[in-house]
Amino acid sequence: MNNSAYEPVIGLEVHVQLKTKSKMFCGCSTEFTLDPNVNICPVCTGQPGVLPVANRKAIELNLKTALALNCGINRHSIFARKNYFYPDLPKNYQITQYEVPFGYDGFLEIDIERESPEAAAKAKKTIRIKRVHQEEDTGKLLHALGSRKLDYSLVDFNRSGVPLLEIVSEPDIANPDEAHAYLSALKSVLQYIEVSDCDMEKGSLRCDANVSIRKRGETELGTKTEIKNMNSFKSVRDALDYEIRRQVEVVGNGGKIVQETRLWDDKANITGSMRSKEQAHDYRYFPEPDLPPFEFDENLIDAIKKDIPELPEKLKQRLVEECQLSQYDAEVLTKEKPLARYFETALASMNPRTPNSPKLLANWINTELLGKLNSENKNVEQSPVSPENLGELVKLIETGAISGKIAKTVFADMMSTGRAPAAIIKEKGLVQISDENELKNVINDVIKENQKAADEYRAGKKQALGSLVGAVMKKTSGKANPQVVNKLLQEVLSEPAV
Ligand code: ADP
Ligand code: MG
Ligand code: ZN
Repeated sequence: MNNSAYEPVIGLEVHVQLKTKSKMFCGCSTEFTLDPNVNICPVCTGQPGVLPVANRKAIELNLKTALALNCGINRHSIFARKNYFYPDLPKNYQITQYEVPFGYDGFLEIDIERESPEAAAKAKKTIRIKRVHQEEDTGKLLHALGSRKLDYSLVDFNRSGVPLLEIVSEPDIANPDEAHAYLSALKSVLQYIEVSDCDMEKGSLRCDANVSIRKRGETELGTKTEIKNMNSFKSVRDALDYEIRRQVEVVGNGGKIVQETRLWDDKANITGSMRSKEQAHDYRYFPEPDLPPFEFDENLIDAIKKDIPELPEKLKQRLVEECQLSQYDAEVLTKEKPLARYFETALASMNPRTPNSPKLLANWINTELLGKLNSENKNVEQSPVSPENLGELVKLIETGAISGKIAKTVFADMMSTGRAPAAIIKEKGLVQISDENELKNVINDVIKENQKAADEYRAGKKQALGSLVGAVMKKTSGKANPQVVNKLLQEVLSEPAV
């Protein structure tokens, strides 16, 4: 793509299901269930004569999101009707926002790899956010696919009216990797502020990708297509990759891009035309007459601002600065809130803490713990090892009570039993031997049994020490403190031979 005469321009529209107990305009439960049409009422099935009542919690979560994404808040706002017919939309219109979204003009910072000499060096890029607005979800159609005789669809209205947030970016995204980074940063923020589960597979986060191409250096935007139906961040990246290549080819062959909606086919790895895209005026937007306008006062906005926790980007920088973690470790630890919490709880339980404690802990979490959890298909919230217990284990390594090697044995036990390290160490007699007198006895035995290596060392062959240290470790079943053994061996061997 880089040496192509064309460059892509991408803007993403992300829909997020808000974590509320009830729907946007009625009291029906939002709980997911496979039984169709159980969480429904006259309002969310669009019966005549009913009136919507806005869900306060949903609007607060919307404002929280908008503020976390650095948006301005329209103090005076309204809902709008977007009119269109589709079988999953029982009212034949969707209540959404049009001219006056709750949030506008925000931004999100993403990490990108710049094509610089130091290609690996991460850099930041700001993606502007155009709007964060409130709307309601549609129902779900279930198509009886694959059989001509069963040529019908079923509709489930459980999802109809579930609060949805739409987060629209400006066309600031320059390639599919940046789109991926944007989604990942966005998801991270949404999870930190606890407004949504953001589970793309379950549909609580959905992304429509808008993409166009233009000649490099040109400032005007080309005609865009909109791609739908991606169910992972990876498929968003793949779909954009494909669509950009397709557009370059069309234009390269003298053709024109048609403004349309295209569907990503995850199996075939292609996008196909679904419908030509409606223009805004096709929807006949007008202010929703059944809902009053909203006025947000400063007290409400301030209260919501106070409720926003430290966001991942900030926390990451703090871990780098205060704990001297590497950018990489800090990034892994802060991407998901439960893991960040795990780290902080574990660190807090390491008492007393040394300047090296956070690094050692980060290492253990990112390699041993995550490695083991991944292999067992578990997330950190399902970890059998509590953060306090891991903190204790790392502390035991730090103080030299157990060796790193023994720690791995203890950790394996902790993973399968969930027990505290002290109990395991006591039961298995794994405490590290650092007592010099005790170790000297072992060392004397080892020298007797390995006269050749001892003589070689005395004759100046320094490498011979390794095998002697190994022999001591073996004799103590790995419990000897290797540093002390090293020191003592050198002392003993520099004494005149007996
Ligand atoms: P529509 O009315 O078609 O939904 P919007 O102006 O609301 O268009 O923009 C929808 C999304 O498409 C936004 O994320 C925006 O950044 C992006 N977008 C708009 N124009 C272009 C373009 N020419 N190329 C790529 N993305 C675009
Ligand atoms: Mg739009
Ligand atoms: Zn309802």
